Amino acid sequence: MLLEKDIDLVLLDMDGTLLDLHYDSYFWMELVPEQYANIHRTSLEQATEIVFSECKKVSGTLSWYCYDYWTNTLGLDIHQLQHQCKDKIQWREDTLWFLKTLKELNKKIVILTNAHPSGIKLKDQQTQLLSYVDLVISSHEIGHAKESQGFWSAVKKQLNTDFSRSVFIDDSEKILVAAESAGVEHLMGINKPDSKKPAQLMQGFSSICQFNEFF
Ligand SMILES: [Mg+2]
Repeated sequence: MLLEKDIDLVLLDMDGTLLDLHYDSYFWMELVPEQYANIHRTSLEQATEIVFSECKKVSGTLSWYCYDYWTNTLGLDIHQLQHQCKDKIQWREDTLWFLKTLKELNKKIVILTNAHPSGIKLKDQQTQLLSYVDLVISSHEIGHAKESQGFWSAVKKQLNTDFSRSVFIDDSEKILVAAESAGVEHLMGINKPDSKKPAQLMQGFSSICQFNEFF
């Protein structure tokens, strides 16, 4: 695939693709269990177990990504709590360069994310992310997670495209599979979504660590 020649529409995941997943990993795996333990007076071990088992129940569904769902389920104000570690919200290494290059090449840039609108707002405040793209579509507006075909048929309609001149980049192999089923012509994985964790090779898709490998 040649970006200059074969692609008009670039579809991009946000967390773990454009932004360092470290913020989200830290937030959900450390800060949320810690706060749960404080508020509900349990040990950190117990709190971690409860949070993880609740996560398992809704993995891959819209609830998994919904701050209102977690605020109710865990009795913690997730909308407030997300601000506590907002200094960890960072671009991945060469994202800004990539977004500017895409703009110079006159590509249409659309973020497709499972992030809750409240999280998108905070991440935009920290990075001005939205000023670099044409549009953001959150699965919460559509009512289906990116893992589901309902999401992709709604996006297809909204963008008025058949995805034949599109590339979609995401750090989740499961979501790449869903995009492939929906007919997105070109797919690419991110194999180092979290700067603090080792790279993860993808089984079924080509994957890159930095965007400059794309060219
Ligand atoms: Mg992601």
